[in-house]
This record gives sequence, structure tokens and C-alpha cells, in this order.
Amino acid sequence: MLKHNTLVASRGAKTSGYLGNAGVRILSCLHRVSRIFQKISENALKLNVVSRTVDARMNESERMPELPEVETVRRGLAPAMEGQVIERADVNRPDLRWPFPERMAERLCGQTVLRLRRRSKYVLADLSSGETLLIHLGMSGRMLVSGDTSFQEFALGKIGQFVHDHPPAEKHDHVVFHMENGARITFNDPRRFGAMDLLDTATADQNKLLAVLGPEPLGNDFHDSHLIKAFENKNSPVKSALLDQRIVSGLGNIYVCEALFRAGISPKRKAGKISKPRVASLVPIIRDVLSEAIEAGGSSLKDFKQADGELGYFQHSFDVYGREGEPCRTPECGDTIERIVQSGRSSFYCKQCQT
Ligand SMILES: [Zn+2]
Repeated sequence: MLKHNTLVASRGAKTSGYLGNAGVRILSCLHRVSRIFQKISENALKLNVVSRTVDARMNESERMPELPEVETVRRGLAPAMEGQVIERADVNRPDLRWPFPERMAERLCGQTVLRLRRRSKYVLADLSSGETLLIHLGMSGRMLVSGDTSFQEFALGKIGQFVHDHPPAEKHDHVVFHMENGARITFNDPRRFGAMDLLDTATADQNKLLAVLGPEPLGNDFHDSHLIKAFENKNSPVKSALLDQRIVSGLGNIYVCEALFRAGISPKRKAGKISKPRVASLVPIIRDVLSEAIEAGGSSLKDFKQADGELGYFQHSFDVYGREGEPCRTPECGDTIERIVQSGRSSFYCKQCQT
């Protein structure tokens, strides 16, 4: 079974005595939220990273954070950032995928994060200045939340608080937010496909990255008639149609494979040739698949009481994704999961169950 390659790092029990209560061991821990598909990096190894290996056949482009992973990052960041003042921002290079906005550090400094929200795979921090910080994790971007003792006190009992003494700076720490409450949020991105920008909050939705996005799959605008209309006369395979961010935003390779399996629809079937009831059935299935993954991510955030301080991995099992050659999970199917390549990306499916 494929297991997400995730980072779990322990920095030892340096602060384990903080509570003075042996029953509650809140340990100093390092949590790298976000990149569930992450290579073990040299730096990570130094931090005793436990990694779960990803199927080596999958290429890098397939291991990108999708909506549930980004939502998990947002939830993990919210307690450390929402309602808090950015005391200082270190911007350690001029760009990531694109140049950072002018005077980014200056424009962030002293601002309160009013709200941390998500649109598709973007985390959006609305600031008291009237600007919104847009964060995209790209392919290898990771967020690290660390804090000091006073922050721990603030943090205890709240979801998403991963408290760890501030770690030594790493090579790819490109942006670091120092919050007034003592929290530090580090954006580390070895491949630099991530992005940050500052938008006017009032017109943020009209930004070129956001304006093109279709409805949120968990929102009210994603419904039967929307999907039926979007699929009408479409000659492309349903797999490609569901990956089209204009039709539904935030879905990626993994969750599309999973949704199609549950719907019993072959990834090869042309979108326009699927009956309306079957297209309609995809709506609740997509919602379920994503909600379950978000829940798994949320559990990983909540679980900060593990004895040795290792935590934070987001482990989620899939029915088809990454299971090439393994038995189909439909009772009495007896077939095995196949992998085909569509538009350069792997599709996993059961040819018996999905037609
Ligand atoms: Zn099957």
C-alpha cells in the first residue's frame, strides 16, 4: 500500500517538563505541515525525519499538494497567525516562482492577520493594511510553525499548534514570519515553485491567478447542473475535465483518481459521453473524498501528544492511487488496479469496476 511520504521530525524532549505533568507530555516538536509527498532531504535527515516512501514510479510533478493538504496547512497556521501581528518578516531572496512584490517585508511588518482563508490551493491572509498575502506552496513548499515557551502557553489545547523551539535556519528557508505572539512561521521551498504575492483585499478575487478558478468543490457553487453543463459536448477524458481548474478548482491527480473509482467511471471515458445521473453522482463523491482527506489532515494536526514528540504526518489511505498491481478493494471484484498515463500523468483505476 502506498503511504504518503511525509515528514515527521522530533527535536527531542527539551521542553517536555514544561507542564510539570507526566500525564500530559507536550513535547517540543517540529512539524512540517503541508508537503505530504516530500523527498527525504539532507536537512530533514538531520532532524530525524521519519519518511514514508512514495512509489518511485511516480514522477515529481504528481506529488503536489492538493486542496486537502493546503486546507490542512491553513488550519495548522490559523492558530499561530489569525488575529496576530506580524512583528517582522524576513524575505531571504528576491523571488520564488515569480519575484516577490516590492517591499514585501516592509508591507507585512506590523500588520495584523485578520483572517486566514483558502481559495483552491492558495492560502490567503487578509491583513489589517487592506492587503492580502497570497501563499502558494508550489510543489515542494513547506510551512514550519515553531514557538517559544510563552507561545506554548497560548497554544495549548488548540488544534494545529505544533510547538517546537525555533529550529536552526535551513538552506531553503526563503520567507520567515515572526509573529508578535512568539510564533515563527517558516516557508521552506527547495525547488522554489511556490509563490507569494500581496493583493488588494477588495479586489483579490479578480487577481489573474484567482479569477480563472472554477467553483470550490466544497462550496455551494459546485453542484449537479454546473458539472453537467461543464461536461456537455466535452471530448476530453473525464480525468482531464476534472483536473481543469476552471471546471472545479483545487482537485489534483490523486483525488480525481479516487473520485472516479468511487463513481465507477473510467478515467478514459469522454466527459461529454457520460450520462447526466453519473455526472451528477460525482458531485457528492468529490465532496466526500476531499472531506475525508481534510479530516485525516485535521487528525494529524490534533494529535500532538505522542510520547516521543513525533507527529504531524498526514497519512491517508487510497483505494486506487499508487496501488498499481494491487487487488481492487471492491468486494468480490478480484481484479487488480492498473496504471495508465493520461496527459503525462498517472491514472490508477480498476477496469472491472470503472466503465
Ligand atoms: Zn474492481
